[in-house]
Amino acid sequence: MRRKLSEILTDENKRKELQYIGIFLLFFIVSTFMTVLNIITGKGLLTVATAVFSVLCAVNFILVRKGGKSGMTIASVLFSVEIVALFTFFLISGNPDGFSALWISMLPACGMLLFGRKRAAVLSGAMFAILVFFFWVPAGRSLLQYEYNKTFMMRFPIFYLAFFLLSALLETIRSITQSELDKLRDKYKYYAAHDYLTNLLNRQGLEEWYATFKNLGEQAAMMIDIDHFKHVNDSFGHDVGDLVLASVAREIKSIADTRVCRWGGEEFVIWFPDSEKMCDPEKIRAGIENMDITIPGSSKVLHVTVSIGVAKGTQNLGALVKVADEAMLLAKNNGRNRIEYHA
Ligand code: GH3
Ligand code: MG
Ligand code: MG
Repeated sequence: MRRKLSEILTDENKRKELQYIGIFLLFFIVSTFMTVLNIITGKGLLTVATAVFSVLCAVNFILVRKGGKSGMTIASVLFSVEIVALFTFFLISGNPDGFSALWISMLPACGMLLFGRKRAAVLSGAMFAILVFFFWVPAGRSLLQYEYNKTFMMRFPIFYLAFFLLSALLETIRSITQSELDKLRDKYKYYAAHDYLTNLLNRQGLEEWYATFKNLGEQAAMMIDIDHFKHVNDSFGHDVGDLVLASVAREIKSIADTRVCRWGGEEFVIWFPDSEKMCDPEKIRAGIENMDITIPGSSKVLHVTVSIGVAKGTQNLGALVKVADEAMLLAKNNGRNRIEYHA
């Protein structure tokens, strides 16, 4: 239950739908309960008002459940009109004993849940204006059908305003927290599948991409390993080694024009779902051989080469990469800076 809820809450649209459903359900239950109470206590017109409102809440609920995105928009507009109308009725009638006006304090929090800060501020502001008109303006007061306590009339709009500010504060904190969490989630999701140094896919990312393909025919894989890379680290330091890795990665990606994986240290894998669409490995080998890598803060230009193993087949990703790796080792043994194909 908690797991399902957290799944819903991390999806913006599902979360919104849940909030709408929650509000309509809450008001449906409350207004139905109040209708029963009104019947028992013999409150004529108030019974009609709460009964109608409870039916409208049910309609809004169905609109959200069945009407998709447009159903949600319609329901939210209808609900704003309905709730302001109901609360205005409560305010004017004052039935029973001036109590119903208290329900108005629920409006800001509902507005925040339904519409977010800006539109909720407009809705709550409209209700505040209505409140001020009936409680503070003589023309409005003369329309009231209930004689409210003077202290109540003076102080209630301020009480309402405080509720509005509190709701706005909570919504602001919630939305900032949510967007920070969303950013973090996206970042960790990205780095669970990508390599931090080169921004290429990591093994996990390649596996995930591979898993999205169904009914694969003959595929191809290339294993690319930088020659004597340890020597680069030993001679120029680890930072220059990192720079070489990032430059080689960029070059491979631009030539292959597809997703590339940093398989491990200085090894890269390119997997082609369709072997016919494999790029020319010679272009990669020559492209890297001809690349000038400038060391920052020095006039020195570095050159590296790669050994490439190529394999084609219908086996799974792991098995295909394994044979491409064998071909790459053959390329190493045959003198490096060359390409070998798995038989
Ligand atoms: P070969 O031609 O046989 O492939 O020799 P090599 O030196 O390239 O291969 P070896 O496996 O001996 O060395 C690989 C080196 O790559 C060792 C390791 O320190 C270095 N390396 C692995 N990951 C990183 C990294 O992220 N940054 C840097 N700078 N070096 C790395
Ligand atoms: Mg290696
Ligand atoms: Mg190497």
